[in-house]
Amino acid sequence: AKETGKARCVVYSQEKFTQPEHDVSMEAAMFQAVRDGEFSLQYQPIVDARSRQIMGFEALMRWSRPGLGMVPPMQFIPMAENNGLINLLGAWALKSACVQIKQFEAIAGRPLYVSVNVSPRQFRNDQFLDIVDEAINLSGLKAHQLLLEITEGILMSDPEHAEHLLSAMLSRNVRIAIDDFGTGYSSLAYLKRFPIATLKIDRAFIKDLPASVKDVAICNVVLSLANHLNLNTVAEGVENEEQLDFLAQQGCNLVQGYLTGRPLVPNDIIQLLKPGVPD
Ligand code: C2E
Ligand code: CA
Ligand code: CA
Ligand code: CA
Repeated sequence: AKETGKARCVVYSQEKFTQPEHDVSMEAAMFQAVRDGEFSLQYQPIVDARSRQIMGFEALMRWSRPGLGMVPPMQFIPMAENNGLINLLGAWALKSACVQIKQFEAIAGRPLYVSVNVSPRQFRNDQFLDIVDEAINLSGLKAHQLLLEITEGILMSDPEHAEHLLSAMLSRNVRIAIDDFGTGYSSLAYLKRFPIATLKIDRAFIKDLPASVKDVAICNVVLSLANHLNLNTVAEGVENEEQLDFLAQQGCNLVQGYLTGRPLVPNDIIQLLKPGVPD
């Protein structure tokens, strides 16, 4: 059994570099994993850029395979998108994140928000709106405390559908964030057309701050644009003090990154939120 286990691992690592989405054994494992409850969520703090107070969390999906370790989301999310499991996983993530954040709030003694990733296939799914309603109703979370992270590509590929769905979200007070802002096929026109609340500046533009003249220029323009359009900004992947200083100084509202908090399991977040416990 050990031998076959090893052989399978070799196959995985070869296919990883070619076509991970066509890795049949990994796909079969994924369906079993849903059944066996191998998926979970971690929560990464999103903090005020100046005070560093935790304002909310991004829910990030994890797949832990017994005996094999963690499968990176970059690997299993595209697979789930291809085989359709993302609808099931995404609905589960949305509901459990809303329920979880209520518990976090109770411990922190103040309101917090939760940011949940929505994939293109979920966004296209007819039941998506019902799932959002269900998540809010069953958790008791206020709609404005839920932020849905979507990518530019989602808006661009079917603007009519996006308009319909986003106006439905707006009427509920559910907020929308553009994830990985600036990295997709985008046009600034959608910032005018759609009711967007937040821009998340991709780590690609953050990681070489403040040394990179180009990244400084890009971040300044994005922050100024967001400010003029009355949008919130979250800088992603903030790893050091220099980046945080720069961003806070340039008026970025919120930051998320290893400097201010890694993604953690709920129990660790609870420890973090308990009053009187120092950081
Ligand atoms: P994302 O939405 O851009 O999420 C941010 C990623 O950056 C996360 O990777 C997070 O762990 C990582 N990160 C946070 N701070 C830092 C930092 O300071 N430095 C560096 N190097 N990385 C940082 P993760 O958890 O591996 O997730 C990767 C991607 O998988 C996510 O990128 C998102 O696109 C997707 N994903 C994760 N969970 C879900 C989910 O529940 N649903 C969907 N549809 N996609 C998800
Ligand atoms: Ca995200
Ligand atoms: Ca992102
Ligand atoms: Ca990203």
